[in-house]
Amino acid sequence: MNVPLEVAERPRAANANGFDAIIIGAGISGMFMLYRLRELGMTARVFETGSDVGGTWYWNRYPGARFDSESWTYGYSFSRELMQEWDWKEHFSPQPDTLEYLNHVAEKFDLRRDIQFHSTVKSAHWDDAAGQWTVTLESGQQARSRFLMTAVGILSAHTLPAIPGRDSFRGPAYHPARWPHTPVDFTGKRVGIIGTGATAIQAIPEIARQAKQLTVFQRRPNWAAPLHNAKIGKAEMEEIKSRYEQIYAHCATTPMWFIHQTDPRKTLDVPPAEREAFWEKLYAEPGFGIWIGNFRDILVDEKANAAISEFIAKKIRQRVKDPRVADMLIPKDHGFGTRRVPLESGYFEAFNRDNVLLVDIMNEEPIERITPNGIRTSKREHEFDILVYATGFDGVTGAFDRIDIRGAHGVRLKDAWADGPRTYLGMLAEGFPNMLMVLGPHTARGNIPQAIEHSVEFQAGMLRFMRQNNYTQVETRPEHVAEWTETVIKAAEPLLSSQVDSWQTGVNRNVEGRTVRRVLGYNGNGVHFRRKTDEVAKGGYREFAFR
Ligand code: NAP
Repeated sequence: MNVPLEVAERPRAANANGFDAIIIGAGISGMFMLYRLRELGMTARVFETGSDVGGTWYWNRYPGARFDSESWTYGYSFSRELMQEWDWKEHFSPQPDTLEYLNHVAEKFDLRRDIQFHSTVKSAHWDDAAGQWTVTLESGQQARSRFLMTAVGILSAHTLPAIPGRDSFRGPAYHPARWPHTPVDFTGKRVGIIGTGATAIQAIPEIARQAKQLTVFQRRPNWAAPLHNAKIGKAEMEEIKSRYEQIYAHCATTPMWFIHQTDPRKTLDVPPAEREAFWEKLYAEPGFGIWIGNFRDILVDEKANAAISEFIAKKIRQRVKDPRVADMLIPKDHGFGTRRVPLESGYFEAFNRDNVLLVDIMNEEPIERITPNGIRTSKREHEFDILVYATGFDGVTGAFDRIDIRGAHGVRLKDAWADGPRTYLGMLAEGFPNMLMVLGPHTARGNIPQAIEHSVEFQAGMLRFMRQNNYTQVETRPEHVAEWTETVIKAAEPLLSSQVDSWQTGVNRNVEGRTVRRVLGYNGNGVHFRRKTDEVAKGGYREFAFR
């Protein structure tokens, strides 16, 4: 990952509002982009809404928030020194530790001096004549730059439930992605939570432990599997550090850049007893093995998927004492793994507690409205002291839509993507010169920090190439955008997940116009994506047009 630079120049001084690059967002993407741009000798300014660095890990402070990917594959790998000096305390790092890590990174590389906090970008307009971007903040402040780097995250545009009376509730109501900076005390409180996605699945066991009463309003259940988190001792951390190079090299050879490698066998080719033993083993192991280290056909073959779904359903029935509640928690409208699988710590057992009530708002007791006292369903009014709206995000393109981005000839990005994103490699959008996207739509994702590093390294390489050749402008080429868009759409076709509504397929009924499924990411093999981007770089970026 660590690409040495031939020339590490001191950045030139920027004038008051003119920069080589403006970066939107100071999360994992924006921080690393800033670091690489400085190495290239470019002046850069990061605009960030929050009061500090961290992005996802700055905002999502809800109880139970933690990685569900192995911590020691989920940090930056660009600096060996950083890797060697940081001790992960748990195999799946809790949010406060992760935020501490990102603060450490910001301090170590002195990143904050180029970051302007409390600064939400309202618009970014490309000026064809000047070959520059003009960025306007909500405060009215303006800045100009040759390049615009979007480091806005794929799950940063949180969405509140479109339920009548939402703002009428008298008590505090929180979305997990805007959680207060001081912990919320649930002691002795009656709490209502709407949503049963990955966020709620982490928060519910924690809130249940504290609250007097927790009522969970579930529209559709989600499949979930155990996280099996554990502390990391000093000796174990030293051992992990000694293997970092191997670990990251191994991740680069797996389809989603995690440690988990798909099993080459097909589910139904394996005798039932052997299959069951394999699934028992995966279910007892930490991390995503049960989802992405499983037989190769579980996510594409309906029969294979039905078999693994039945195995997980059996586990839910074993863990939840009341068979009626267990049945309510088992998804019926989609198979295991066809939505992003949340990993949980005592989620199903939380429903065995006397102070937790599960309400099925899809089939039994629809929500009619939020009231000053709580939530009124078709059957009764549930009274609460605190409400939690764990209702998710307008994934991937949502954060772009919130900014008025206009490219060549004044075309709005939102309009250009109305029928789905059009990009090359998810790095540049068609018609938007000098706009480089980290984790843009149609790029490969999987292990997010590794995807970010890969993307930033590719873009830094391209910027270095531009400087060496005295180019100041880069754009996509139509034929390559068409080819890549086709590749991305084809890669999604065989997946059962493409037939399911989720943030990954762009469906969010709390947002106007988000009812039609779209392909938002490259779902092909991450190894192929790496090969493709390496070929483009080695070939001199011929797939892009430079001026
Ligand atoms: P989500 O998976 O989209 O779940 C949102 C939940 O809210 C769903 O249960 C949804 O029901 C429900 N909901 C939405 N609007 C509603 C409404 N108007 N009325 C009733 N219910 C409503 O969102 P999330 O849980 O925040 O997770 C999003 C993604 O963030 C995850 O898939 C994951 O990628 C990431 N994440 C990662 C971690 C981690 O790494 N540890 C933790 C949390 C989240 P339906 O299912 O019926 O739509």
